[in-house]
Amino acid sequence: MKGAELAARIRADVAREVAELGDVCLATVLVGDDPASHIYIDKKHEAAHGAGIVTRDMRLPASTSEEDVLALVDELNEDEGVDGILVQLPLPSQIDEVRVTNAVLPVKDVDGLHTVNAGRLYLGTPLHVPATAWGCMELLADHGVEVGGAEAVVIGRSELIGRPVAMLLLSANATVTMCHSRTRDLGEQARRADILIAAVGRPWLVTPDMVKPGAAVLDVGINRTEDGLRGDVDPAVGDVAGFMTPVPGGVGPMTIALLLRSTLKAARYRRGLLAFQGA
Ligand code: NAP
Repeated sequence: MKGAELAARIRADVAREVAELGDVCLATVLVGDDPASHIYIDKKHEAAHGAGIVTRDMRLPASTSEEDVLALVDELNEDEGVDGILVQLPLPSQIDEVRVTNAVLPVKDVDGLHTVNAGRLYLGTPLHVPATAWGCMELLADHGVEVGGAEAVVIGRSELIGRPVAMLLLSANATVTMCHSRTRDLGEQARRADILIAAVGRPWLVTPDMVKPGAAVLDVGINRTEDGLRGDVDPAVGDVAGFMTPVPGGVGPMTIALLLRSTLKAARYRRGLLAFQGA
């Protein structure tokens, strides 16, 4: 599954729609010196500019207090010129991530992590959705993978990926199994999957013997190891799977493309072009 190709198409569509809509703005908040977070934020800004989205790049020192982060989020909430707000996680330990993500106005919450957005996804009537989960669904659709009635197994239950992708699969009428670190026989669960999504953070956890022949396998994992970047899925799974995303170049580029689409969606919500019935 060529995530990079589909992501480029989505970015081009977003660019065209942004040009029609005019003035769309994404603000990001990054606290601290985590090198990976700085790379992610740089990539997001670069992609946003490529789509004609204006950005505000707010970077604060690692010692910033929770009150100061909340004050900045408030400022961005009030700012009529800002459509979407993304707070890059993780935040330094003195800052409560849940408090900060819930301080973002739901309509501007392009990461879909506010309780309102998470709740609407749970209810099957989503508003903003986490970009990586949305990207997985777009990859399946683009490759013609039948989701309705399929056995879908999601490994990982984080708020950012595992839970939202499981909810989207359920809304699309898959029969969904969620696995996690306490799952008894992961291989047995995974082998039933027509659609297998690995969002764990363990290099090459999923091996060929855990995969049903012909299954669609989406590898969300990004693990930096001494031997380089590795996904959660052993590349040898490609010999068994019907479809499989590579790492890098699979789900990763989709996350950025769908973040741009979320920003465009926020701009439409804020202009009354789409109904934001949630908050
Ligand atoms: P996370 O918050 O650490 O969650 C990991 C999940 O995996 C947890 O639910 C955990 O179970 C489960 N798990 C851990 N070990 C397991 C095992 N041995 N067997 C089964 N389940 C196990 O991680 P995350 O934020 O969801 O990220 C997951 C991966 O995606 C990471 O590699 C991250 O770097 C990557 N990522 C990729 C993108 C992208 O755009 N491609 C975006 C964000 C993150 P418990 O709940 O029981 O602890």
